Parts: sequence; structure tokens; C-alpha cells
Amino acid sequence: MEVCYQLPVLPLDRPVPKHVLSRRGAISFSSSSSLFGGPDPRKLSQRRGGISYDSSDQTALYIRMLDVRIRSRVGFEPEPRSSHPYLLVDFRLLHYRPGRAGPVSARGVRRLLSFQRYRHPSRSACRQPNRSQLCVLDQDYAGQAKCMLERAGSWSFDIFLFDRLTNGNSLVTLTAHLFNHYGLIELFQLDMVKLHRFLVMIQEDYRRQNPYHNAVHAADVTQAMYCYLQEPKLVSSLTSFDILLGLLAAATHDLDHPGVNQPFLVKTQHYLAALYQNSSVLENHHWRSAVGLLRQSGLLDHLPAEDRQSLERRLGSLILATDINRQNEYLSQFRSHLDRGDLNLENSAHRHLILQMALKCADICNPCRPWELSKQWSERVTQEFFQQGDVEKKHNLEVSPFCDSQSNTIADIQTGFMSYVVEPLFSEWARFSNTQLSRAMLRHLDLNKAHWTDEMDPKTHPQGNQGS
Ligand SMILES: [Zn+2]
Repeated sequence: MEVCYQLPVLPLDRPVPKHVLSRRGAISFSSSSSLFGGPDPRKLSQRRGGISYDSSDQTALYIRMLDVRIRSRVGFEPEPRSSHPYLLVDFRLLHYRPGRAGPVSARGVRRLLSFQRYRHPSRSACRQPNRSQLCVLDQDYAGQAKCMLERAGSWSFDIFLFDRLTNGNSLVTLTAHLFNHYGLIELFQLDMVKLHRFLVMIQEDYRRQNPYHNAVHAADVTQAMYCYLQEPKLVSSLTSFDILLGLLAAATHDLDHPGVNQPFLVKTQHYLAALYQNSSVLENHHWRSAVGLLRQSGLLDHLPAEDRQSLERRLGSLILATDINRQNEYLSQFRSHLDRGDLNLENSAHRHLILQMALKCADICNPCRPWELSKQWSERVTQEFFQQGDVEKKHNLEVSPFCDSQSNTIADIQTGFMSYVVEPLFSEWARFSNTQLSRAMLRHLDLNKAHWTDEMDPKTHPQGNQGS
């Protein structure tokens, strides 16, 4: 939602910082902003937004509301975005017409698509007035979060703590920091207000009710991506465009994830499965959602059309590479290059492959983190699997692999995942990268696997284990 105001009664009462004065630009404010010298600043106490101004005389031109979480006195409402599978899955269809499980008709897809931007009750519930979220962060917390950002390239970075210190804004804060760190705002002449608005929209389009696939996971993947972008081979070869793309892909790679997997969407005849013909359904949706937000924010509107198209295309190619079902395809391509020793990072196609592999690693790096972090992620992902399994049982659907809380445990899910998915990928990455970080990741992987194996051992745990 974007609302523009003329500003006869809202003079800026502090100078605009010099670094943003260099161009006609904008600044963002939070609910506590001291920028307003108006008679009743409380009127703005529940909003966030930004001010665009004329750089020559600092006259404010208009305010944009960015993230209005509650209905305010002047009647703003949050703009509901995105869909939810439980809203759109017609379980009656499954129960009463079992013989007609074919794809939904084109008309059905159109009808369902029209619901895509409808409000979902559980999401609205998340947006009920929650004053604690609107309160100004304690200065100590803000200070600690800032301190943590100085170590944003550390492999033991605690994203859960960072998320708490930023009041649930880890994705926005971290991504904005990295854009600043790489000078992408200056390089690509990005409008600060549009960038902030875009990042807030991304964060909001992740679903808080998902135990795993939420904005904290996206922030974690973005942080891991940053660690990989710091690796010597990448530092010396990647262009700014590659870095912009890598960060965008990491931040958006699971956008609007419904908290269930592709087989669930297929068997419940969800419109997304029909739309993407049962192939990389989620990844296609994440990509399209990301492109939608990019265009909606207007962040790149000033770039030449061919650059925007190229970025959108490459963003899709990166996000689609995170489809775990296609891991072997990417891995064998990567392995062949390593065997032949012919990776040439001056070649843009090769750099793109490396970015794909880096994003794949970042996406499933949880088992390669220090145990305390890794364990939390394992618990969260298992919780999400079991929630899906419970819904499947409730509706007499076949329970998907790893989703049955009666027959699976965190330990057996994790050891299988580590052995068959994570280890092969990170071994090849270590062959390519061969740095302290790549070796540390393999070391953590070994230790974490030993932890879970130990939990599965009937001698050490005679009662057996149940996932949370
Ligand atoms: Zn992911």
C-alpha cells in the first residue's frame, strides 16, 4: 500500500544526512522518528514509512507508508498478500470425488488465481495489533544487533538471537546491511525508500506460522550466502551484479512458502501445482513472487529493461536450483567441471553455476552449522514435516515421507538427510572452495551427524526417541 501526502504541516526538523543529499532521494523513518516537528507526532506513532525530499532545499515532497500493521485512525489497513494452501485446498473434492483426481481445469486455475491475493484469516491474525512489535527497540538491543552485524561473515552467527534483537526484522536488517556493505545502493542508484519497502514486503511475505520456512530461514540463508560470497575465489571474480543477484536470490528463495511440500500440493490439487504442471512448483512460485515484489516496489524501474529482464531471468535460474529433487542434475554438472578442472570464473555462465551451487549450499547448510544452531533448525524442520503429516492423516491422505510423527524421529530424518543430500553437496563444494570455512562446515557436519546417530543408538537411548 502506498499513500502519498502533501506535507504542509510536516516540516523536517533535522538536517538530511549529507550522504543522501548527493541525489534526490529519500529516508525512512520508524515509529519513534524524531524527524517530525509537527504538533502531534503521536499521530504517526504506529506507522513506518519514508520521506522523499528535494535534495536542493530539503523540502519534503511526500510520505510513503511502508508497513502499516494495524488499522490506524486514518483508516489504513495492511495489504493482504499471497495465498495459503489450506485456504485453497478443497478437501471436499478429495473426499467425495476420489476418481477424478486429474489436474484442475484452466477455468479452475483462473478462479483460484483470483484468490491469490486474498486475505487469509491466520495471516490476518498475525497482523492484529501487537504493540510490542510496534514499540521502539530498546537502544541496547539495537546496539547489540549492530555489534552482531560487524560479525555478519562469521559461520557461527546466531540468526535466532539476531532476529530477537531486531524484533523479528532479521531479514530486512541483515539484507539492508549487506546492500550497504557492498555499496550496491550507490552502484545501482537504488532509492532507499523503495529498497526498504521491498525488503519489508519480502519479509512480510514469509509466513510467521511456518516453524521452518519463514523469514528467519531466509535471513539465515542470506547470511550463509554472504559467507560464501566472501570466499577468496568468489571475491576475486564476482561482479557487483552477481553479488546483487546472489543476495536477492538468497533473501527471496522461499518467498510465500506454504509450509507444505510439493507432493502435498500435487495430491491436494492445489492451483500452484496445476499452474506449474507439477514441476518445481514451490520454486517457481518463490521466483514469481519475488519478481512480483520487485516490480511492485519499483526498485529497479530506473535500470534499462534488458538489465531488469536479465536479473529476473537469472534470479529464476538461481531459485529453481534450490529444488532438492533436481540436486543430482546440478551436482553432476558441478562435479564434471571439477573433474575436468575447467571452471573459468571469467566466464559468466561458470560464475552463474557457482552462484547456483552457493545458494544450494546456503539453503541446506543447517547441518553444517555449530551444533546449538543446527539442532534448532532440525527441530523446526521436523515440526513442519509433522504438521503436514497431521493434516494428511486428518484428511485420509497418504502421509508423505518423513512427515509421520509416529514412525519418524528427528534423528533418523537428519542422519538420512545428511548422508544422502548434504554430504555429497558439501564435499564437492569443499573441492571447489578448499578453504578454512569449507573444511569447518564438513567438520560440523560430521560432529552433528554423530550427535544424531548417538541419539538413535538403542544402547544410549533405550526408550527410543520421538521428534518434537
Ligand atoms: Zn530454503
